[in-house]
Amino acid sequence: MKRRDFLAGGPLGLAASAALHRPLFAAQTAPREPGLKITAVEPWILKTGTLLVLLRTSEGLTGIGECSPMNIRVIAAMIEQALAPKILGRNPLDINLLWEAMFYSTYKLGVMGIQPEAIAGIDIALWDLFGKVTRQPLHRLLGGRRRERVRMYASIGGGASTSIEDMARRASEAVSRGFTAIKIRMDWGNQRTDVRPEQDWQLISTVRRVVGSKIDLGFDPNNGYSVSTAIRMGRRLQDQLGIVHYEEPVPQHDYRGLAQVAAALDMPVAAGEQEYTLWQFRDLIEVAQVDIVQPDLVKCAGITEAVRIAALAAAHDRILVPHQTQPSVGNTANLHFTAAFSRTENPQEFNYDMEKAEALRKVFPNMPVLEKGHMTVPDGPGLGLTLDEAELARLRA
Ligand code: CA
Repeated sequence: MKRRDFLAGGPLGLAASAALHRPLFAAQTAPREPGLKITAVEPWILKTGTLLVLLRTSEGLTGIGECSPMNIRVIAAMIEQALAPKILGRNPLDINLLWEAMFYSTYKLGVMGIQPEAIAGIDIALWDLFGKVTRQPLHRLLGGRRRERVRMYASIGGGASTSIEDMARRASEAVSRGFTAIKIRMDWGNQRTDVRPEQDWQLISTVRRVVGSKIDLGFDPNNGYSVSTAIRMGRRLQDQLGIVHYEEPVPQHDYRGLAQVAAALDMPVAAGEQEYTLWQFRDLIEVAQVDIVQPDLVKCAGITEAVRIAALAAAHDRILVPHQTQPSVGNTANLHFTAAFSRTENPQEFNYDMEKAEALRKVFPNMPVLEKGHMTVPDGPGLGLTLDEAELARLRA
């Protein structure tokens, strides 16, 4: 193969050949250049409580991204007022430079929550555009998919406000849909330290009895236990119920407490949905000693930062199972990401809210579907999602 052909045809061909034809320092000093440009940055708030980001370009392509939906209007304002001015008119393929321009210009607004969640939506849309320009699926831009079909787990929330009977019914319904893995989340409100561990035990052990021993079962107390309760409950959960994923047992800021829990138990302890940057994940791994690392693409400043977090997790031989609760763009981006980077066959999170997923399917008609508890990683350019703009406008809040 000729060198030129390789550059043009490879997954990173367009970016690589552009870099070769540019003076060495041009990328750092002159990001504004003729050619492809970002012409509009549009946050879309939907009736489903979803925040999408559309990036329009001079060539008529549209990149699609999504942000965490917490404090949705504040994040949308952050995108419009602080981030859009940093990227309008620039080449969307300079993804890392755009990421740095957004991140460091808003650093003092706080590198947890709103800031990285706003950047996440734009960053995912930039990667979608990269795929559309190069006509390659996102998983290939990330280096190739290790698996075409990804086993998903049904992530079932509301444990604190749902009766044991209703929770057992929802769990067995998920199994009858074909899921072979389930996680029960407690979703505590503000009152969340050792509220009623004995009742939690009744709930999760009933779920285990109903779904049977062959289902992979995870438990997420949503930061609801003190260290001693987390360890005492954890021993019962691993020894008597065979729990395979114990998520955020203690308050998220208690890294040393999390390390105590992880050291005391044999089952893997998971956390990461409340961490946002590479440095926070460094501390989560080195200080909190978690076994399963859970970056969330719609929260942790997007795919660009998540790739670095995946490398960090690999360097420490930790299990990478991202957090993900958004069924359309977030889940699709996560399928590409997890197919490329997760080195385990652990099932990946799918928020068990089928009503919301079906409402969003009108906007994205080719969204991945559940097939016996699995989803296929899309093969179209970028995220591989087709966007119905009329339905999008109809769903606008
Ligand atoms: Ca969780």
